[in-house]
Amino acid sequence: MSDIHDLDRRYVFHPFSVAQNHQQSGATMMARSAEGCWITDDAGKRYLDAMAGLWCVNVGYGRERIADALADQARQLSYFHGFSSMATEPAAILAERVISKAPEGFSKVFFGASGSDANDTQAKIVWYYNNLRDMPQKKKIIARDRGYHGVTVMSAGLTGLPGLHAGFDLPLPMIRHVSAPHNLWTRNAGEDDAAFTARMAQELDDLIVAEGPDTVAAFIAEPVMGAGGVIVPPEGYFPAMQQVLDRHDVLLIADEVICGFGRLGTWFGSDRMNMKPDLMSVAKGITSGYAPLSAVLVGEKVWSVICEGSAKYGAFGHGYTYTAHPVTAAAALANLDIVEEENLVTRAGEMGDYMNASLKKAFADLPITAETRGCGLMAAVEFAKPHGDSWQKFDPAAGVGPRIVRAALEDGVICRALPNGDAISFSPPFTVTHEEIDLAVSTVRKAAGTVH
Ligand code: PLP
Repeated sequence: MSDIHDLDRRYVFHPFSVAQNHQQSGATMMARSAEGCWITDDAGKRYLDAMAGLWCVNVGYGRERIADALADQARQLSYFHGFSSMATEPAAILAERVISKAPEGFSKVFFGASGSDANDTQAKIVWYYNNLRDMPQKKKIIARDRGYHGVTVMSAGLTGLPGLHAGFDLPLPMIRHVSAPHNLWTRNAGEDDAAFTARMAQELDDLIVAEGPDTVAAFIAEPVMGAGGVIVPPEGYFPAMQQVLDRHDVLLIADEVICGFGRLGTWFGSDRMNMKPDLMSVAKGITSGYAPLSAVLVGEKVWSVICEGSAKYGAFGHGYTYTAHPVTAAAALANLDIVEEENLVTRAGEMGDYMNASLKKAFADLPITAETRGCGLMAAVEFAKPHGDSWQKFDPAAGVGPRIVRAALEDGVICRALPNGDAISFSPPFTVTHEEIDLAVSTVRKAAGTVH
């Protein structure tokens, strides 16, 4: 084991990694450099990154223009904050730019550094909003099973994946979950989109009524669920959910951390999924991962209450040292220039159609393919055991998804195993070529063929 691997093994506490395994085996891969969709490790082996890191490197690796923007801004003004009405130029320009792309009705941007902190900010905003409206009981937040909203205390609680709760005393008492609209595991036999959607909306309505509408503040949802399985809702799902929310005066928060800035072929996932959110969280694609930056976009309905209410509470008592960090804002501006100039949002839609069709075709003849699904440049293939007319999950201990991912990695393609079933996901940079998609699909298909 090289010195660097030894340092990593001995000193780094890795996220989402099994500590004992890491102590014994060390790093699976030590990335050293990257260009386009390709990563090179410390031994010189190249990997096609079909996940864009963690669903984030939308414009691809190695962009000089973003590197220059980071360096130039660090030289000119390496840091200043936004507390007490202080401001920096890049943050102001970026806020306008983000609002100009957002759906109608959004007027303000609150910056942070990660998707998790954005969702924590969301919870505080909705509580503050209802306190200002003299509704101090209206505080519960409903999320969905399999939703992924981050790892800070509130956002991990909102996340609907048991692996993020185990050992952490989560979720919190003010959080509730409803079912994910999962075609494979939640849809009843013979249920069409309309009936499935109506049942999901009824479940939400029943929960709000049972809890008491005057205790429920918000519902949070990803337009297309990412880490929970790339779950694309049925047609009409969000309008139906939204009718329930409107009836009970419950805010809709769109968690656009993956979908925002183009991954579904539209600027925001809400545009594609017909959501009309009151609040949105974005991160990842805002800088394509070149710098840690997130934002909460606040709609006029909520902002007007906060603004008027500042007479009651004075300063809004929330913000991070790195809120509106000028270097990260400069990276975001250069990233958005690239997205626009290279027409990458449209490209993500087109390449996404190609990727989804290729996956469907390549995996159709594999007996353990239960479903191939996706939208834009997000896709998953889910594996299960055929069981009469339906499917049965593999025993998690068999590790079918993780074994496929490891075999593909051996052959130089990075995809990701998702929890709660045996789905593997694909979410490449928007610059991915047809040949790179073909290579990713054929490599993973071959890997899947070896695992039974
Ligand atoms: N929300 C969604 C939809 C995500 O996919 C993620 C991360 O994958 C987060 C929130 C959390 O973002 P972060 O890891 O930057 O805290």
